[in-house]
Amino acid sequence: MALERCEFCTARPREEVAVLRWRGDDRDRLTLWLCGKHLERMQKAGTRGWEHSGWLHKVGWW
Ligand SMILES: [Zn+2]
Repeated sequence: MALERCEFCTARPREEVAVLRWRGDDRDRLTLWLCGKHLERMQKAGTRGWEHSGWLHKVGWW
């Protein structure tokens, strides 16, 4: 089944992205479908991380 929405909103996803999600010592390596807007937000936040629902996210697993 094709994914038709971004992980964080209802927009159509642009691409599947490797995302590191962390909170304290918890680390999750995920692959998420993101729309252009959310991908850009995450890229802009860089290593500081983009916060959503108490978790920080950045592009790339390292
Ligand atoms: Zn989105």
